[in-house]
Amino acid sequence: ATAQIGVTGLAVMGRNLARNLARNGFTVALHNRSPERTRSLVAEHGDEGTFVPTESLADFVAALERPRAVIIMVKAGGPTDAVIDELVPLLEAGDIIIDCGNAHFADTRRREEALRAKGLHFVGTGVSGGEEGALWGPSIMPGGSAESYRKLGPIFEKIAAQVDGEPCCRHVGPDGAGHFVKMVHNGIEYADMQLIAEAYDLLRAGLGATPSELAEIFREWNTGELESFLIEITADVLAHTDAASGEAFVDIVQDRAEQKGTGRWTVQIALDLGIPITGIAEATFARSLSGHVGQREAAVRAFPDSGEKWQVNDRETFIEDVRRALLASKIVAYAQGFDQIRAGSAEYDWNIDLGGTATIWRGGCIIRARFLDRIKQAYDEQPELPTLLVAPWFADTVRDGVPSWRRVVAEAARAGVPAPAFASSLAYFDALRAERLPAALIQGLRDNFGAHTYRRTDRDGSFHTLWATPDRAEVEA
Ligand code: NDP
Repeated sequence: ATAQIGVTGLAVMGRNLARNLARNGFTVALHNRSPERTRSLVAEHGDEGTFVPTESLADFVAALERPRAVIIMVKAGGPTDAVIDELVPLLEAGDIIIDCGNAHFADTRRREEALRAKGLHFVGTGVSGGEEGALWGPSIMPGGSAESYRKLGPIFEKIAAQVDGEPCCRHVGPDGAGHFVKMVHNGIEYADMQLIAEAYDLLRAGLGATPSELAEIFREWNTGELESFLIEITADVLAHTDAASGEAFVDIVQDRAEQKGTGRWTVQIALDLGIPITGIAEATFARSLSGHVGQREAAVRAFPDSGEKWQVNDRETFIEDVRRALLASKIVAYAQGFDQIRAGSAEYDWNIDLGGTATIWRGGCIIRARFLDRIKQAYDEQPELPTLLVAPWFADTVRDGVPSWRRVVAEAARAGVPAPAFASSLAYFDALRAERLPAALIQGLRDNFGAHTYRRTDRDGSFHTLWATPDRAEVEA
């Protein structure tokens, strides 16, 4: 047994992760259900490091040093369970199975519990950064036991992206914590992309600019507070011309956004936890809406465009307004995502370090951004921060952005350009900062029709008004 770690599942992600491990000096045992992938990996990249190719799971396990560390990188869901079931009889107490696929954290909790009962460690690990990340340095979010991290930490931290000398990897927390955090990461990614898309749409409509002109605006934004991977690739995509048609690439792509489901999971879990992640939810629903082609066609016919062009007067001010609105809305989306992590951590006893989570996301992953340093700093300074929105830099930025934010949302509504994530983020902000919410009326209605009781502002206790009686007397419930 010579390999320090093994990877089973050598499609694009597993292959690149195995190459990354080998390039960083680890001896990597290789396995894939169909041996062709194993063979082609060794044939094409065998010189990049030390690989131990195997064609049966028994040989694969036998190639590993003890305690064995086995990365599973197969299709999430049933295939992951199938591979675990095949592996378990071959392993011994203390061995570690690491699932780097996009598992639902509830599945990870179930698997971890079942394997813990057999004396095995199961480490559900979120990996972000796509193919390139897996190869050159992903953002890694491992859950599982602290004990397993003692073996895995040095390996993962070496192959992860590095920012300012710090790895974009740290132990997130027990059992499903890593996959939970990865899920929220993807939810935030949905919100971030939707906000960027709305900014693009507003700029395009308001300025009447071409995609390549808009690319310049995003390129410029990428030199400031918005600096991030997603803004950078937005500029790339907008600047790209389709070779076949000569049209702007963005104009020849069908406008139906697809999803693999992690955004949806984030929203579903947020509903269960009672956390209003409105930015992520709007982004997820916006993708769904874009796919309802029949409804969209019917509505286009029923409500044709007036043909009136929206032309902003002061271009520079408008661009700056959209930039500030984007930044403020993005702060809301991140604040909500971190609220969800805090809530998940409390619900499942994970004790997740929020500032530490921001550190993991500073590099390697899709939402990597300058901004994440600020988040880390905010939680380091005040671990019990009630919401990211009130941390000094975020509060100042939002305060500065509010007039722009209101102008953009109002102008979008007036011009009929949909900006659901901008608008709902602003509404969330206004609701959070309102001294009184109309929730009081909702409580009154609930008491009226269902005797659901209410609390008073002036004394403790639960009360019910006898709405059907002539004097509407109040009783203590
Ligand atoms: P796929 O999700 O396409 O899965 C293909 C791999 O799964 C192949 O190795 C295949 O083996 C194996 N497999 C499928 N069914 C079984 C089974 N029943 N038993 C054994 N092996 C099986 O591969 P990707 O590389 O795209 O993704 C791997 C994981 O990483 C997934 O969970 C995915 O969600 C996640 N992912 C993460 C990304 C990220 O950015 N973090 C990006 C993309 C994916 P065979 O070759 O024999 O068919």
